[in-house]
Amino acid sequence: MTVFYSNPGHLKHSQLANTSCHIHLWLATQDSSITNELINPLQQFGYTVIVYIPTTIPNIDTNFVPPDILVIDLELLNTDSASITNTEYFSQFSALQNLECPILIAASEDNFQSRRRAAQIKAIGFLLKPLDAAQLVDNIERILGEHYAPPLRVLIIDNDLELANHFCKVLRTEGIETALLTDPSLIIDTIDTFRPEFILLDMEIPGYSAPELAAIIRYHNDLMGIPIVFLYNADALNPYIEEMQQIAADFIRKPIKDSHLVTAIKMRAVRFRQLAKLMSKDSLTGLLKHTRIKEGINLELVRVQRSDKTLSIAMLDIDHFRQVNKDYGHAAGDRVIVALGYMLKHCLRKGDGIGRYGGEEFVAILPECDPNMAYQVMDNIRERFAGLQFQHEGQKFFCTISIGIAYTNDLAVQNSDSLLIATEEALQLAKQWGRNQVRLATHATGNSN
Ligand code: GH3
Ligand code: MG
Ligand code: MG
Ligand code: MG
Repeated sequence: MTVFYSNPGHLKHSQLANTSCHIHLWLATQDSSITNELINPLQQFGYTVIVYIPTTIPNIDTNFVPPDILVIDLELLNTDSASITNTEYFSQFSALQNLECPILIAASEDNFQSRRRAAQIKAIGFLLKPLDAAQLVDNIERILGEHYAPPLRVLIIDNDLELANHFCKVLRTEGIETALLTDPSLIIDTIDTFRPEFILLDMEIPGYSAPELAAIIRYHNDLMGIPIVFLYNADALNPYIEEMQQIAADFIRKPIKDSHLVTAIKMRAVRFRQLAKLMSKDSLTGLLKHTRIKEGINLELVRVQRSDKTLSIAMLDIDHFRQVNKDYGHAAGDRVIVALGYMLKHCLRKGDGIGRYGGEEFVAILPECDPNMAYQVMDNIRERFAGLQFQHEGQKFFCTISIGIAYTNDLAVQNSDSLLIATEEALQLAKQWGRNQVRLATHATGNSN
């Protein structure tokens, strides 16, 4: 039997089309307590949940939407289960693995045998029942974040077109995205648009010195720590090698073996990505940090001033959060914060900025979004969040949020500070008027002067 639970409300509600990451989750279980507890909250997060009892794998037809993640109740795979034979049990493993999505195991007992079972089906994570929706979402997001991480981006700067093209080809077959630059004078534009995570720089480009080019790259704020690997010719005596020891991640002598190139790049680019994330993202929620929010708003303001579009900013604050901490402890409070972060990620568009502004305060940057639309979207998030059930040691509780929205108009001179102040004032109004509500700023923005 396969039961489908779709979540039609999700896309309809979100006036902002092109919802960022809609996750299809398959839940393989016969345990009704799991389904009762999980389906609704997961849908609130914007997930499509399909409860699926794997006596058969669904036919793979044209309408088949493969799961992004599969959660399997270990009970279901017990060989002594009446509904399933030994052969079926093993054939399912391969069928499940053919789905090629990460598998999470939910077990009722934490012992060697259950963990071993999980390892045998190559599950990526092991969770104990009862499952808590917010915690499950946290696990899934972390897993999917790594599993579906965007390809690494490598910039190759070399005037030797033939060789550079060869490097590009080798890297692309490894799933690495590449950009090739033969004219170093275009370096700034290329970096701005391509946002490389690794740079391979030829040391012998006529007319340019390698230290000069490296410095130009490093003036870029976000790229201070970017690994630059210098390519040099085996026969040439390079005057800069000594001087470059400080800034080079490595020197690679041409000709280089393809496999060496790939390992050298992957290792360093991945580390740079992790570091960059640590620097700009909040560790609890993975959202933008305070300072990056302001930068994000300023960036959007520049764009807005060139167009006649409206930029809306929303500030969200969890209601009576002190009390939540007091009643259920700081760790439970943290889970509430994380849950709100994920809900924002799922209910907003890809191009929207989302940051953790303070402890339990979030800011959403909504480009090309007029106040009406911003209101609808935010009210939808408010409602979903209010319906989300949390648990702490068997106690169930709910939380609400208040939201203030401000937006740009053509009358006011705007900067991120004035916009944020207006947003904060709107948030205070929402608090004063009873919380669990959305308020628009009474005037579009404060003047910057
Ligand atoms: P209000 O409805 O007026 O917002 O009431 P409130 O209790 O939520 O008041 P306020 O927003 O001023 O308080 C925020 C509280 O959030 C204070 C602090 O103890 C708690 N907090 C801040 N950061 C974190 C965090 O990272 N984790 C947890 N668990 N609590 C935090
Ligand atoms: Mg050259
Ligand atoms: Mg607060
Ligand atoms: Mg609060």
